[in-house]
Amino acid sequence: MVSNLARNAIDQLKETIKLKLLLYVGFPLLGAVLVLLLFIFLVIGLNQGIPSITETAKSKQEASQLGIDPELMKIYQEIAEKYGIPWEILAAAHQASGVAVSSTGGGTTNVNVSGQYGTEIAAASSKYGVDPNLIKAIIQQESGWKPTVVSSAGAVGLMQVMPFNCQSSGLDPRTTCREPAKNIMTGTKIISSYLKRVNGDLKLGLASYNGGPNRVSGLQKKYGQSYESIASYLPKETQNYVVKVTGYYAKYGGTTPIQGVDQRKSIEELAQKISDSKKTPAAGCLDQAKSQTKLNPDLACGLYGVKNDWAYVKQVESSSQTFKAISSPAPGEINSNMKYSGGRFPWPVNGRLTSKFGPRWGRNHNGLDIAAPIGTPIYAPADGVINISKANPGGFGWYVKIDHGGGFETLYGHMYPNTVTVKVGDRVKKGQKIAEVGNNGHSTGPHLHWEVHVHGKPVNPEPYLMK
Ligand SMILES: [Zn+2]
Repeated sequence: MVSNLARNAIDQLKETIKLKLLLYVGFPLLGAVLVLLLFIFLVIGLNQGIPSITETAKSKQEASQLGIDPELMKIYQEIAEKYGIPWEILAAAHQASGVAVSSTGGGTTNVNVSGQYGTEIAAASSKYGVDPNLIKAIIQQESGWKPTVVSSAGAVGLMQVMPFNCQSSGLDPRTTCREPAKNIMTGTKIISSYLKRVNGDLKLGLASYNGGPNRVSGLQKKYGQSYESIASYLPKETQNYVVKVTGYYAKYGGTTPIQGVDQRKSIEELAQKISDSKKTPAAGCLDQAKSQTKLNPDLACGLYGVKNDWAYVKQVESSSQTFKAISSPAPGEINSNMKYSGGRFPWPVNGRLTSKFGPRWGRNHNGLDIAAPIGTPIYAPADGVINISKANPGGFGWYVKIDHGGGFETLYGHMYPNTVTVKVGDRVKKGQKIAEVGNNGHSTGPHLHWEVHVHGKPVNPEPYLMK
């Protein structure tokens, strides 16, 4: 009896201990695991939701460890896209063909520039390989050497840099971008990239600086490669600009606007060769390709045509793997595969933030309102394809949406239809003007209503904007 009672008591005690163990150890442990899971989930979610610039910095670092200048990588990507060749194959083929050097040049050493802003001009010239006389000629025309000049389009400083270009370089168009040293550096970077696009042609480079690089390349596609063949289709302002700056340039004693374009030329020639032999492969090549390499036979024969040597093709195949592992779009840019790869958008318009994302008037305001005078240009903040351009009279007025790839879209509202310069299906480049600020639709004053969509859902655009 007693022992039975005792046994019952012991059993009861055991039950209590089990319960207490569960209460004091089991549940808190479970709780801790859940909290940890939630934390991991949040960290991953945030990292994917908000673009990070560290990724880009990392791949830039990898690029330089591989001995490839990030600028050069961009050239590979541009030309590869043009010829429909994977960029890593073109890069590997170029490096293996013996014509490549490790840097795009630029790097004119010991530049000595006399006169106003000589030190600043010398620094920019040596960094981007642009003839200092050309920088002087552009300053002469753009601002007459007055650093405080602001144009009606919002261009600022000695070299009249557009706000979106300031922002792409991390500068504020209202302050830092107007400082002579930074303004000259940014303006020189821009003219250098335009000149490289046109293989160093002075007139085409200047036409791009004044009239926009996309206008120039668009006209070239239609009317021919030379400046002379497109000149009459350019705005009068641009035509006059080219005449004036080439005049100043000659007066300053300039002859060669930029260094390092031979490299671009050699990449382009190689891409042309690969593309040609891809289209008309050598006899028997397609059959041999299958046993020689894992590359797509067309592409393999394209490469084979460069040196008629399978060893070269194999070398390109293997070193392209290393290139494939890295990609280095600049912050806020979209790479050539149209995948959003991190970074931040420059402001699409130069204006003042008047209304944020969030609840407003009883519902959610799905974007930012950026106030600016009617007619202020709106620029695509990244490459993309226009997928909507239509009227919404009771709401956005005329509005436009850009698909940037990788699930990213941006939306622009309240424009007047006659200011919209793009149509559905158009490919737009970062910095390309797409429309002007209006007051169309349900709007209480001239502004741009701007939304960022991620996988179809409007998100707060602010984290995606450059400060
Ligand atoms: Zn709005």
